[in-house]
Amino acid sequence: MTMSENLATFGATRRTVIRGGRLLTPAGIVDDGAVVIDGGRILFAGPASAWRGNDAGAVLVDARGGWIVPGFIDLHVHGGGGGDTMDATFDALCAVARCHAQYGTTAFLATTVTAPHDRLLEVAAAVREAVGRWTGGAQVLGLHLEGPYVSPKRAGAQNTAHMRPPAPEELEELFAAAGGTWRLVALAPELPGAVDAIRWLAERGVVVSIGHSDATYEEAAAGIAAGARHATHLFNAMRGLHHREPGVVGAALAHAEVTVELIADGEHVHPAALALAVACKGPQRTALVTDCMRARGLPDGVYKLGDLDVLVQGGKARLAASPDTIAGSLLTMGEAVRFLVRTVGVPLPEAVTMASATPARIIGVADRKGSLEPGKDGDVVVLDDDLRVQATVVAGRIVYSR
Ligand SMILES: [Zn+2]
Repeated sequence: MTMSENLATFGATRRTVIRGGRLLTPAGIVDDGAVVIDGGRILFAGPASAWRGNDAGAVLVDARGGWIVPGFIDLHVHGGGGGDTMDATFDALCAVARCHAQYGTTAFLATTVTAPHDRLLEVAAAVREAVGRWTGGAQVLGLHLEGPYVSPKRAGAQNTAHMRPPAPEELEELFAAAGGTWRLVALAPELPGAVDAIRWLAERGVVVSIGHSDATYEEAAAGIAAGARHATHLFNAMRGLHHREPGVVGAALAHAEVTVELIADGEHVHPAALALAVACKGPQRTALVTDCMRARGLPDGVYKLGDLDVLVQGGKARLAASPDTIAGSLLTMGEAVRFLVRTVGVPLPEAVTMASATPARIIGVADRKGSLEPGKDGDVVVLDDDLRVQATVVAGRIVYSR
C-alpha cells in the first residue's frame, strides 16, 4: 500500500476548514488566511476572502487570531507518552504519536538507540508495519537508526556494550527488515568500514548522518565525501570545534551539502550556539528535533532509554548511573519552535521552516509534506499568539485541540 492510497483511507471524510488566523505559506504571511483540506489533502491555502468553495457540512477550526502553520516533522524522536521506539510495538509508536501530536508534530521518524542486532531487526519490522497506519496522532514516516555504529568515546546516553563497527551483512538485514522505510542513520565515520557503509547506504537512499562521533575534521570530511549529508544533534555527542582541529562540528558547519539537527531546549545547546548554527547553516539546512524520550507526559521517576536507566526529575532526563550525562530530552517540537523565537530571536517563519519544510526535504518527502500548498497532505498546526499549540490536524483530522 502506498502512502497516497492510505491517505484516502484515513484522511477525514469530511472537509476541514481552518481559518481566523495568520497563515504561513511558502509565499509569505497571509494576514487573514484559510486552509481547506479535502480527502486528507490541502485543497486551498490562501486569503480567506479568496476561498469560494462550499463549507456546508465542513469541520471548522477557528484559529482565534493565532497562527496557521505547517505540521511539524520530527526526524529524531525516541519516545513520549510512555512509549518508545525500542518497545517495537505498534501500541508504543501510537503512544509516541499521540503524545507529540499535542505539541504540533504531525509526522516523525521513529528513532532507535544502540542495541543488539536482533533487537534492531524487530524494531525495524515494527516501524515498517506502522508506516501508513493511522495512529490517532502524528504519522510514522519511517525508521531512524541512531547507533549502533557509533563511537564509545561519544556515547552520550547510549550503551557502549552494543557499539560496533558497521558490518555489511547487518546493514543488508536491516535494510530488508525496514522494507524501504529506513530513512535516516546516525553513525561515526571514523569507525573501520564506515566509509564503505556510508557509500552503500547513500546509494540506497538512506540519509546518512554523522552522530555520536569522535571523528577529526578530516575523518568527518571523508564521510561527507562518501555521501554523509546530515549531522545528528549538532554539538551534542560529537568532537567540538577547535580552530586548529575543527572536528565534526566544524565539518558539518563548513560543508554546504550537510544539514544539521538542533535540540533547541536551552539545555543541550547554549542559545548563543543555537544562534551561531542557524546563522551559519540557515533555516534551509537546519532541522529542529526533540530527541525526546518516553517520559514526556509522565510523572518524575526512573525510565528506560534502551536498556539504560534514566532519572527524570524537574523536566530533565539524566542517566541514573551518571547524572552529569543528559539522556535524551523531554522536549517537543512546539516548545523548540517557541524557544528559538522567544529566546534565540529567530523570526517565526524561519523557525517553522526548520520544523517543517527543511526536515521534509532532508528525508525526501517535500513533495507531499512540509508546507501549506494545494495538493500536499493536510497536516496543520494552529498556534496561539503566545506560540503555544492550540490545535493539530493530521490528514485533515483534528488529533488535538484545546
Ligand atoms: Zn537520540
